[in-house]
Amino acid sequence: MSKQLILALSKGRILDETLPLLADAGITPIEDLGKSRKLLFDTNLPDVKLVVIRATDVPTYVQLGAADMGVAGKDVLLEHGAEGLYEPLDLNIAQCKLMTAGMVGAAPAAHARRRVATKFVNVARRYYAEQGIQAEVIKLYGAMELAPLMNLADEIVDIVDTGNTLRANGMEPRELIDMISTRLVVNKAAMTMKHDRIKPLIERLSEAVAKRRASATPVN
Ligand code: AMP
Repeated sequence: MSKQLILALSKGRILDETLPLLADAGITPIEDLGKSRKLLFDTNLPDVKLVVIRATDVPTYVQLGAADMGVAGKDVLLEHGAEGLYEPLDLNIAQCKLMTAGMVGAAPAAHARRRVATKFVNVARRYYAEQGIQAEVIKLYGAMELAPLMNLADEIVDIVDTGNTLRANGMEPRELIDMISTRLVVNKAAMTMKHDRIKPLIERLSEAVAKRRASATPVN
């Protein structure tokens, strides 16, 4: 196994919040990730490289060892499953909720099986089974809020932050499935084989998270 460390980062909103934490932990990309079309980046540390990929691909890269470590939302990890991965640190960023939601004031579905539209099909199947509710889970890739409006589904399972997206589409949050935040994940084999490189990095990131949390705590 190479001594190089590859860290897989989720593109998009998580990336903007991850980079300052990495910088605090002593890792900075040597070029502006936002301005480049490249996917693989060198950093100030000669043996650490960053890949910037779709959030949903991060667990796959890390599980299969193409990346040693990764940064991904708990929503993505719940959907993917935890096999082959350690989740040693909550980075406390991009916090939101995974919830069920439906049209405001809608009566419970008349048919026996509740139709649920979501991109989180595994999470949804598990959740409704746990609740003892029969559900037909319909996979969508985006704009879940449209599904009840168009009578494609009775309910959706989606990420809720402010709730504005739901409200703008005549919907309301219903049941909380899980609290979500961004996590550091580590390939299980790499954790053993590269422990001397990975452990200090987890410690530095953990300190960066604690520092950020302390500076965000309001003083009364
Ligand atoms: P909001 O309107 O603030 O409730 O945001 C809801 C939409 O923003 C969802 O449909 C998600 O696609 C997206 N979103 C908000 N927060 C996150 C997050 N932490 N991670 C991923 N997507 C998010």
